[in-house]
Amino acid sequence: MNLSKTPSAGNVKRAPLLDLKFEEKDDPQNPGDGIWMIPSYGNMGVVETEQGLVVVDVPMGPFIAKTIKRLHNTFGAPVHTIFLTHGHADHAFCLNPLFEYNEKQGGPPPRVIAQRNILKRFNRYRMLQGFNDHINREQFAVPEGISAFPLPDRNPDITFDGNLSTRVGGIDFHAYHAEGETDDHLWVWVPEKKAVFSGDLLIWTFPNVGNPFKVQRYTLEWAEGLEAIVAKQPEILIPGHGPVLQGRDRIRKICLTVSSALRYLHDEVVKRLNAGMGYEDILHDIEFLPEWSQKDYLVPRYGCPTFVIHGILRQYTGWYDGNPSNLFAPKKSEIAREVTGLVGAEKMAVHAHQLQSEGRAQMALQFTDMALAAEPEPALRRSLHRLKAELLGSLGDRESSFIARNIYYTGYNREIRLADADPEND
Ligand SMILES: [Zn+2]
Repeated sequence: MNLSKTPSAGNVKRAPLLDLKFEEKDDPQNPGDGIWMIPSYGNMGVVETEQGLVVVDVPMGPFIAKTIKRLHNTFGAPVHTIFLTHGHADHAFCLNPLFEYNEKQGGPPPRVIAQRNILKRFNRYRMLQGFNDHINREQFAVPEGISAFPLPDRNPDITFDGNLSTRVGGIDFHAYHAEGETDDHLWVWVPEKKAVFSGDLLIWTFPNVGNPFKVQRYTLEWAEGLEAIVAKQPEILIPGHGPVLQGRDRIRKICLTVSSALRYLHDEVVKRLNAGMGYEDILHDIEFLPEWSQKDYLVPRYGCPTFVIHGILRQYTGWYDGNPSNLFAPKKSEIAREVTGLVGAEKMAVHAHQLQSEGRAQMALQFTDMALAAEPEPALRRSLHRLKAELLGSLGDRESSFIARNIYYTGYNREIRLADADPEND
């Protein structure tokens, strides 16, 4: 058969680094009296008090040394308290450098405060480090040879359920549990400064609920968290990622626009569930609002609305799709082998190419997989791996979501390797 044009062998596709309006190059910012943000991946919030600094979150390993240097140069004061907005690597894994910093400042060790669920999360990370290394390598396009998942370097000292209030150097701090990106998420309110530290409730992209690799995240609760922030009428918002927000009206507008996008998807799914619709029908039935791609803080540059729908469905339903044929179904590859056996792998491959030429890449992928499941002869197998690479590569090139693009590119690289590994003349 006519082999399609092939991507050049050994050509590896890799997405550029994730851009969550990352401003690590910028100097520490001082949006209010004693309120600071040290931009990094993720941001560190700082409040100056007479008893020392109160810090919200610590950035990832590769960025921590620079952040500590900025802390030293800007304040030269010890850290009294660290709040962790949630137990992700870019917010909570690098605490020891702050303890060492305090030692150099001649201060006592800081205390570390987090929501109680962080302890279970850290235990899970320790149990599943290998798994997390695999999935984060794919999600973040981490090259081989570099650890894709370091472990948290210590547990917090103080954990709480619900709310926690504390006073440091005459300033009140209130931490509120609000599930969103994680079940251990919190945000911090400093009423005297009218400042809020939102963590990843605001991340300058469409909220990353329904991440294809990760455990449950929380759509309605995320929206409620943003609305609770707005109810405090903050004048300053330090986000987990991206630039500082200032001005009550601007903060209100951005938080409520994000929460309304989440509520829209949530309510559309719930409406269909209550009407008796199944998972797949719901997934393909909900329309997205065009305004989402026009707002810089909602562009699906990390996750995307389709993932959010998966997240909501997974939160409220089980895995059964309503068709008893699928209750104890054979493997998909076995079904595909049966189907392809009837039709012939070559015919399936021709149709896959036809679908590709019609611009129906997703359907073309399904036929490519079915043809491959039948383990056809080597020349056809090679051409199918190359076709699949082409399809995945072009989908990745057009994809705005960093996570989806990395999944496509990882698949592209794998298919190129498989095509090249197949012996040419057997
Ligand atoms: Zn984050």
